[in-house]
Amino acid sequence: MRALGVGLIGTGYMGKCHALAWNAVAPVFGDVPRPKLAMLCEVDEALAAQRAGEFGFTESTADWQALIAHPDVDVVSITTPNAFHAEMAIAALKAGKHVWCEKPMATSLGDAEAMLAATKAAGTVAALGYNYIQNPAIRLAQRLIAEGAIGPVNHVRVEMDEDFMADAGALFSWKSEAASGHGALDDFGVHAFSLIKVLIGEVEAVMADMAKPYAERPLAAGGSRAVETHDIATLLLRLSSGASGLVALNRSAWGRKGRIALQVFGAKGTIAYDQERMNEIELYIADGSADTQGFRRILTAPAHEPYGRFIPAPGHGLGFNELKIIECRELLRAIAGEPAHLLDFEAGLRIERTVEAAARSFRDGRWTSV
Ligand code: NAD
Repeated sequence: MRALGVGLIGTGYMGKCHALAWNAVAPVFGDVPRPKLAMLCEVDEALAAQRAGEFGFTESTADWQALIAHPDVDVVSITTPNAFHAEMAIAALKAGKHVWCEKPMATSLGDAEAMLAATKAAGTVAALGYNYIQNPAIRLAQRLIAEGAIGPVNHVRVEMDEDFMADAGALFSWKSEAASGHGALDDFGVHAFSLIKVLIGEVEAVMADMAKPYAERPLAAGGSRAVETHDIATLLLRLSSGASGLVALNRSAWGRKGRIALQVFGAKGTIAYDQERMNEIELYIADGSADTQGFRRILTAPAHEPYGRFIPAPGHGLGFNELKIIECRELLRAIAGEPAHLLDFEAGLRIERTVEAAARSFRDGRWTSV
């Protein structure tokens, strides 16, 4: 495997997370060459130069097209707001680069389809930032379900809640603009769909409701602006497997900081997980004597790959940023032509179809096929 040159667009919350992953992937895994951090891009030159120094990138620019054209850039991390993903990813793919794009893939089905077509034409790798599927705890749940530990799955429930938009005084940001998509559906729903996809399978039909807790939000410069997206969404699902599902999303949920409460119910047992306690799963198997049945709490450990690459001690725990480092290793696997645990643009398009079906369902007030 040769050392790849990296270009990073955006240096906010996710940009820093990608930068940490690119810096850490070689020392953590020890089986890949250290990527060359070639160029970083931000909206203004001064900020770009500052971040390049902090994150260890050789060059910086305020022009994302120059970054894509840079001969030392082999793979482009796209961590800009949702509305930019399609244009930047398609340009990078057309230039023959690999792409690691944050979720949601796009803000319209047409854009997502064009992104998939661009990947197929380029023949390079295009992966999405569905980091939660990389958690060793989620991979354990995936293996247990695949092995039939809880029997055939008949119901899945995912509640994803955070409170960063719970305050009526929280400033209007790009997340409240229609250009970013529908709201909680694109922001959180896509993560829920990524988990359901790897754990149980495809969503076939959806019945959705959406809500806006606040009609307006204050602007930084004074005054206020009408909120264009829905911070709350509630979805009933039918899966191709025959299982039913319930997904509840709320980015205005006071007190919830990073909750992804997942429950998978099968004919022989249940698996439960919560991202706020991301280093454990609860497993219930209905066997043995009724007087000793109960949930078993399993803490992640080196037995759960790739936990041991980070820490030799069981139960000490990984964090959010570690999931991105694992995702980065999977991306390098895919680029090397090896099997990888990743959601590519093909899988991403299916998730976008689910988002669009949910939005149509809400508009039309009825069950809608994906
Ligand atoms: P952010 O606002 O913190 O950062 C975005 C950055 O992009 C900012 O620094 C901004 O200046 C920069 N930017 C905007 N336009 C640019 C341009 N034309 N050229 C260069 N830089 C530009 O946002 P964020 O929270 O990091 O979200 C970014 C993306 O990551 C979103 O699509 C979001 O959905 C996704 N995200 C994913 C996860 C996850 O768990 N995978 C978590 C949070 C956010």
